[in-house]
Amino acid sequence: MIKKVAIVGAGLGGLTVAIALHKKGINAQVYEKASFLRPIGAGLSIVPNGLHCLEAIVPGITDLLKQAGSETRMLTLKKSTGEIIAQKSVNLIDKYSQPMLQIRWSRLQEILASALPTENIHLNYRCINFEQNDKSIKVYFDGNKTVEVELLIGADGLNSAVRQTMIGDGEPRYAGRMSWRAVLQYSHEMLHPDEVMSMTAPDGKIFGFFDLGGGYIMWSAAALSPGKPLKQSASDIKSYVQEKFANWAEPVQAIIKATNAEDIIERPICDRPPLSNWSQGRVTLLGDAAHPMVPLLGQGANTAFEDAWELSQFLCHAPNLATALACYEKSRQPRTQIIQIRNAVQANRAYKADSEVYLRGMMEKAQVSDREFEEWLYGYNPSLATCG
Ligand SMILES: Cc1cc2nc3c(=O)[nH]c(=O)nc-3n(C[C@H](O)[C@H](O)[C@H](O)COP(=O)(O)OP(=O)(O)OC[C@H]3O[C@@H](n4cnc5c(N)ncnc54)[C@H](O)[C@@H]3O)c2cc1C
Repeated sequence: MIKKVAIVGAGLGGLTVAIALHKKGINAQVYEKASFLRPIGAGLSIVPNGLHCLEAIVPGITDLLKQAGSETRMLTLKKSTGEIIAQKSVNLIDKYSQPMLQIRWSRLQEILASALPTENIHLNYRCINFEQNDKSIKVYFDGNKTVEVELLIGADGLNSAVRQTMIGDGEPRYAGRMSWRAVLQYSHEMLHPDEVMSMTAPDGKIFGFFDLGGGYIMWSAAALSPGKPLKQSASDIKSYVQEKFANWAEPVQAIIKATNAEDIIERPICDRPPLSNWSQGRVTLLGDAAHPMVPLLGQGANTAFEDAWELSQFLCHAPNLATALACYEKSRQPRTQIIQIRNAVQANRAYKADSEVYLRGMMEKAQVSDREFEEWLYGYNPSLATCG
């Protein structure tokens, strides 16, 4: 079994794989470019497949997450004018033994980080390169810092430096949509506990409200935009969002007005086409670095938790590193590709399905009915992860 691993990126995926390896007695050190652990998003949904993996890695953690977040029991879809289009109650627990949970990103990150010794997280370490031979891998960071380990895991997100060094496939693809999100302590008579409410307009704009528990609410908005119009200042961003959603029914206006401009996160929505392999010698990828997807199905972090569980299992049980990484890819690629493609289809992203027989097969699998897809997605059982 390998003894020392460097993980680049202390996002949700990097922290989770570090915990999983640490629990198995592997020296897992996390290197993060930021000077503090900052939440990249505002809040997120964790669903049964992700929760099952977190529970398998840290028994008892899902009780903590349930206390810290809010279980969604109702989904409501409205027109931008406020008229209800559809309403559906949610009960995933009966079928999948775990709920749909909404949680503040910062709280989840804190809970994960607290499961690792603080000395295992190294801040101000921006990875710039690596070099490997058949005995070890040397990882280079800004400021002439280096570490030498047996395995490097690139968990450094959508713009992964590890992926660039390994594959060099350039910038991610902009999906033609900008997103804005914020968390605030807020209440409004139209926002109910345990509810996710989405509002939509024919021009492609959407605005969602998520109860995150403890008096916190997240709003998340998106609009089609041909370029990436990143604003200069926080107040410019807030004014732009107010302008974009000016005619929308309450509580849209009220909640934007109540949000501190500095708390609004603006982000272009991007993805990359699926990779045919994401490991090379002593380096592999995890989470968004391996399989970034547009966030329609809310699966980016959930699949990173699956990656973390499976990679740690294979590293502990396979006879050697090469077999462990081959098993990891073989198990993770088909599943994450289907989810990437399903997201892409729903977002009208082109995947050139007719260019490769393989991709065409994946497209077919990704287009099953919503019910079948949900069962396959949420019914994931971590204990069945095998090198099949
Ligand atoms: C609008 C939106 C909504 C979303 N909602 C959901 C949701 O509800 N549920 C869900 O499951 N997913 C959701 N996602 C997807 C989710 O945010 C990502 O899939 C998830 O954050 C991926 O985790 P990660 O650890 O792979 O990467 P990241 O979270 O991006 O973390 C990467 C880390 O690496 C660090 N880093 C980057 N480069 C370097 C470097 N060179 N050296 C060192 N460190 C580096 C970064 O600072 C960061 O800390 C959403 C995404 C968006 C855009």
